[in-house]
Amino acid sequence: MGVTRPYLVKTSNGESKVLNLADCVNIHRTPAVRDAILKGEYNRIVSDDGHMITVEKPFFYTDFDRNHLFLVKPRYERHDWLDASAQLERMVKRVPLNIMTADKKMRVIFGMGELREKLVADDASIDDRMVELLKVLIIYDHPFLIKQPRLRLYLEKVSKQSYDFIACYDHHPRNYRVGMPRKVVDELVTNRAEVEKWIKQRHKKENIFDLKKDHWVNFWRWSPVPSYLNSLKGYAKQIREGKTISVTDKGFKDMLKYLPRGSQLPAWAKKDLYELLQFAKKKKLKKLQDQLFELRFDRQLDDDWYLNDDPNDIDTLWKLMKDLPDTNVEGNTSLDELNLARGGGGWYEPDTGDIYIGSEELFDKERFEDVVRHEVGHAVHEANDKKINPWLKKQFGWMTFDMDDKQIDAWVDLMGGYKTNDPQVIKELRKFLKAALGPGSEWGPPKYPVIPRNHAWWNPDFGPRIAFENSGNDWHERNDKWYRYKDKAFFCNFYYQQFMVVNSSTLDLINNGMPDKYAATSPFEFFAELYALFYDMDDPMRKNIPKEVKDWLNTNVGKATSSSQPKKPKHGIRRTNRAMPGRKR
Ligand SMILES: [Zn+2]
Repeated sequence: MGVTRPYLVKTSNGESKVLNLADCVNIHRTPAVRDAILKGEYNRIVSDDGHMITVEKPFFYTDFDRNHLFLVKPRYERHDWLDASAQLERMVKRVPLNIMTADKKMRVIFGMGELREKLVADDASIDDRMVELLKVLIIYDHPFLIKQPRLRLYLEKVSKQSYDFIACYDHHPRNYRVGMPRKVVDELVTNRAEVEKWIKQRHKKENIFDLKKDHWVNFWRWSPVPSYLNSLKGYAKQIREGKTISVTDKGFKDMLKYLPRGSQLPAWAKKDLYELLQFAKKKKLKKLQDQLFELRFDRQLDDDWYLNDDPNDIDTLWKLMKDLPDTNVEGNTSLDELNLARGGGGWYEPDTGDIYIGSEELFDKERFEDVVRHEVGHAVHEANDKKINPWLKKQFGWMTFDMDDKQIDAWVDLMGGYKTNDPQVIKELRKFLKAALGPGSEWGPPKYPVIPRNHAWWNPDFGPRIAFENSGNDWHERNDKWYRYKDKAFFCNFYYQQFMVVNSSTLDLINNGMPDKYAATSPFEFFAELYALFYDMDDPMRKNIPKEVKDWLNTNVGKATSSSQPKKPKHGIRRTNRAMPGRKR
């Protein structure tokens, strides 16, 4: 279960495609997504010329069974890891996570390759922090790997004999497989205390074993590049806001020194650099103009790590490598060049055609931070369905009916029955109703069933027919049109392949009191939305939840506790003018 929304994307050769992409994946509900990630197939499309293109976009990854809470972002946003970590903290804050054990793993992850690697490490029961240290050893044993900029090093698979890594590059087609013998890894894992000591001594600021409110575990943080890209972004922002910046500060000078150059700059950074150039022109800073110009058009650097510089003010890989603990790594790792057509591996190989949907382009930014609560709501519902389902029926009138005869009859009875005693006609009406539900997993009705002109189906007072006809595409969005009978509203859920009913008063609550009409999709989504709102203490719409509902949730699900955070308006503008309806499951 997750939240998917339609995104319009453009491939590098100019094709436009609408893709349904997830804002949230819940592995407990859709384990197949995890398998697809491991196969390197998730969020991947094949372009017209046969390339495998990875679509990178922000999404939230939850796996309540394995205690994983991951915020995944496109890999070009990795300079933003501190902001992303803060966002992750906000997302899980005040979510009653008592469905998970205390040692939940929170991570910010940049790119599908990093995500896949976390899953591979988890399956092999190795700590992801140890995996990053293995990479340091690999580079130590094969230093030529970092002579080409934009190295990606991923744990690909773990076998009985070895830990296999893939080395590939953002702007270069070369691939290598590096195998590290198991005994080397086992040795390190056994001596973990010593390894942690080594990290602590060499990297006081960037000790991955002791990260506070910082959830990026990746060896890239030992390159100065992400952090200086982040300063560039900060300076450009200040200039855009009309503020002045000090270009004589050490921080500014260091940034000029360590920023990647020329074609190594990400597209957004080129724009930000242009901003700085305009500033230098305006302030008539001739020398700075020259420096910025050189930066923009310079040749590539030899490496992203400044291994020849050893600057003392930044944490680099150099510091780690200069003082490696005793290991058997030297000369023991194997290295093979892979001859693959692009996109040939079962991992996420970077391709220049990859598509990025940045955090700024998220479909509904405010809503994105609420997705965790929604998914936790589903998990809580599943764990307590014996208690929650009868309450949803009693309090809100939610009932669902499957496609078997008995259940169809029960749904029809709520609308006054078939209004005929002819068993043959009733049999046919059931058949038409089954056809009307369609094949399932659709967000709208199937082709209208072929029905003889004089059939009882067409009787003006045959409610089930009207209920079907009025459900329509994205039925939750148009619940005001649903067929009403005696204070109840009837509709077909074409996704679940079920007939449904709910109290009209519940629809009033959804339409006038809750953040999203999506709550009308099904009782299941209703509970998740209600849960998300109930535990969002800052949401002004929370007051719309009736007192008896709040009381029940407090008693039976868990007490919502107030935070000391100042109240900020939410859900202000986002409900209107939605270009495309949201898709969640
Ligand atoms: Zn949902």
